[in-house]
Amino acid sequence: MGPSSISYGHFNVSLVTRSFESRTADWLSVHEATEKIIAGVTPLRVERVLLSDSLGRALAEDLVADATLPPWNNSGMDGFAVRAKDIKGASKESPIRLVVTRHVRAGDAPGPEVGQGEAVRIMTGAPVPSLTDSVVRVEDTDAESDSGVVQVFDDRDAGANVRPAGQDMRPGERLLGLGHTIAPGAVGVLASAGRGRVLVHSRPQVAVLTTGNELRGPDQFEDVRSGAGIPDSNGPMTSALVAAAGGSVMQLGPSADDERDLRNWINKAEDCDALITVGGASMGDADLVKRVLDRMGYRSGFWRVRMRPGSPVGFGWLPRGDRLQPVFSLPGNPTSAFVTFELLVRPFLLRLGGHRDTDRRRIVCRTEEAIHSPAQLTYFLRVQLSGTSENSGVRLTGPQGSGLVSGLGRADGLAIIPEDVSRVQEGEGVTVMLLEG
Ligand code: AMP
Ligand code: MG
Repeated sequence: MGPSSISYGHFNVSLVTRSFESRTADWLSVHEATEKIIAGVTPLRVERVLLSDSLGRALAEDLVADATLPPWNNSGMDGFAVRAKDIKGASKESPIRLVVTRHVRAGDAPGPEVGQGEAVRIMTGAPVPSLTDSVVRVEDTDAESDSGVVQVFDDRDAGANVRPAGQDMRPGERLLGLGHTIAPGAVGVLASAGRGRVLVHSRPQVAVLTTGNELRGPDQFEDVRSGAGIPDSNGPMTSALVAAAGGSVMQLGPSADDERDLRNWINKAEDCDALITVGGASMGDADLVKRVLDRMGYRSGFWRVRMRPGSPVGFGWLPRGDRLQPVFSLPGNPTSAFVTFELLVRPFLLRLGGHRDTDRRRIVCRTEEAIHSPAQLTYFLRVQLSGTSENSGVRLTGPQGSGLVSGLGRADGLAIIPEDVSRVQEGEGVTVMLLEG
């Protein structure tokens, strides 16, 4: 007897001897399937990349400030830096006149103290001279129409519009945590912390292989028009899903439903961190993916999940030299491919890419129509929402057949009807997984 589990690269894998093709369905719950996929996955290696290349990556370090920002008390307005007590009582009827001693711009030194009855013309971001505590907005003055003297018509800015040093960040302050997904706002924070390069996790390299004799690319669309083929929508869609989950894609196929062709394509994915096959994974005569995988030594993790759409989804590992490559076999119906990716592949890729947050935001919404749900399966429906907060109204994008693709373009989220619920009445709450970002 060999070991019951083995560690290969990043993956701890239970050794399963049953083959995919001959095995019976496991019918795992969505949760069990997710747990099985996630177990033992550790983030990929780290690398230092240019800040401009960091968008969508996961931080592989805590970002800690080592400078004070803003570095000086500075003006939040274009206007006049003054002492609050010098402008008290200023109004249109009784303006207060102050002597303007100089002009200070962002990047200038603050210069000497400001005396009583004096003002300094100041621009947004410029350092506020000492002894001033207010910046009067230019609209409340005559804008120094008489050079060297300013008239102040309002005292509402007494004590206002000075942004204190250190308000934004101070040395030692933690700005972003390990595993944070770098969105454009985080790029701004990283730049503010002086990072020209950032330590991040590598992007998972993911091969996407579509399969089916009937599939046509955009250059063969004439066949689709004439009724001789169907568009390979899953190839570009699955590649986009991978990219949106922080992966980089090697798009393969479409492969013919032919063992040799399939094997050739699968071999091209050798060096990838994961392989996603789409189609040919079910019970039909042309469903050769699992046979080819089995002949290549595939170890099955599971086959079949209690979900609709997408129940024929499979997951396992393919030996590649001294490592095992995770393989997802998604069903070919476009919505089945989409939903199984969202539920099972996306969290895996995010974890592999080192991202801390791997779950979609879920909110409870009110359904505007009754929903029937199959017994014993978790049902995922494409829905549109009236808002993105709890209690928003939710309605179906249209017919919910798994072969339909058009509703996916309109879907804000997937409504989730649990296994033990067979009917939801109009007005009742349903959980919706939001498809954001
Ligand atoms: P399969 O999983 O191969 O049995 O395919 C199930 C259904 O999905 C069939 O109607 C296929 O034509 C369709 N299908 C399979 N692959 C794709 C694809 N890449 N793009 C669009 N539809 C597909
Ligand atoms: Mg097929």
